[in-house]
Amino acid sequence: MITMAKAESTPTLEQLYSSLNEVLVCIQDQEKYFSSQLVELKNREKELLLAYQREGQRVKRLQEVIASTEILFNTSSEQKIGELVVKILYKLYPQAAIRFLITSTHPVGMKLLAYAGKLPDQLKACKINPLDCPVIKRGKPWFNPSENKDLFCLKLAILPKLYGHICIPLLVDGRAFGVLSFTFHYSYTFDHYDEEVINVFSTYVGLAFANARLVKIATTEALTDQLTGLPNRRYALEALQREISRAERYGGIFSVAMIDLDNFKVVNDLYGHIEGDRVLVLFARIASQVFRKIDLVARYGGEEFLLLFPQTSLPNSIDAVERFKTLFNQATLFGGLKATNLTFSAGLAEYRTDGQNAENLLETCDKRLYKAKDGGRNQVVGVG
Ligand code: GH3
Ligand code: MG
Ligand code: MG
Repeated sequence: MITMAKAESTPTLEQLYSSLNEVLVCIQDQEKYFSSQLVELKNREKELLLAYQREGQRVKRLQEVIASTEILFNTSSEQKIGELVVKILYKLYPQAAIRFLITSTHPVGMKLLAYAGKLPDQLKACKINPLDCPVIKRGKPWFNPSENKDLFCLKLAILPKLYGHICIPLLVDGRAFGVLSFTFHYSYTFDHYDEEVINVFSTYVGLAFANARLVKIATTEALTDQLTGLPNRRYALEALQREISRAERYGGIFSVAMIDLDNFKVVNDLYGHIEGDRVLVLFARIASQVFRKIDLVARYGGEEFLLLFPQTSLPNSIDAVERFKTLFNQATLFGGLKATNLTFSAGLAEYRTDGQNAENLLETCDKRLYKAKDGGRNQVVGVG
């Protein structure tokens, strides 16, 4: 019995080899499996590392973009906003040339407000009619990450080498006022992260730009006379103060004139207030044509105007106002107004000789103006 059991449980050498082989194959299979798993894990690790880096880059870009918006909102000049925006974006995307284009009515097209990066000459003057620009028309971005010219905006297809482009509409209240354009002149793969960063940024840019426009309108309105479009009293007094400071610092002279229309009440009484308004507008139009660009003509109030003549002596200013007086009178004779043969009186003063500060100068002008009125009106007075 024992001998038999021994004979049954003792494997032959062949059997042993075969079993060992099976185990070996099994181990080899396992090894293959584990090494393929290892490769997969390594690949996965690489992917995760890449995704982590990409995410980090995305967060960094978003942070930079958000940090820069504060500066944008504190900038009130459209030009400065344009310059800042392209600078910020160029820092993020040095592979691209970046343009800040705004719609313009004169001439019809897009105005290149600012740019950064190597911009081909063809793109410096942009003649795209906003009505032909799909980005403006649809108010939606155009991301073209390919070199396929069929996918290019027509205006960009002419460029010899381009690795894709992005055009983002700049919107205010749903209406596009411009475009942020990226043209990639070096190989760059942009993905949905870039789209996200650029979209977020362009939303802020639109708001900052609208804000600057509102500030500009409010400032201009606060300093402009609505009827004539001339600078108003507030502006005139600020300009006078600036002129005094300039003359104090750098020397030199300047003159001031106060003009008041003669018998203007009669114009209103005879022909009505609207006709009176027309006379004031005519006065402003002729004055803007007659005097030099550096001179200032402002509506001081009612039918009174304040004029500033930088670097001009009193006699020369008197001559200029006399010439203007003749032209204004002629315009009321032949200008198609109901009120005709209108005149004005003026009192002039020169800085330093007639007054050292705004108050003295204006007082002198006023005194001389009343002298002109007392003298029979239609006169220019620079003495007394
Ligand atoms: P004088 O020669 O002494 O200056 O006489 P005047 O009639 O011009 O002066 P007065 O101060 O008596 O009248 C000024 C008139 O100007 C009265 C006022 O109604 C009118 N006026 C002031 N502002 C405006 C305006 O914006 N439009 C019109 N139509 N009239 C105005
Ligand atoms: Mg008056
Ligand atoms: Mg008057």
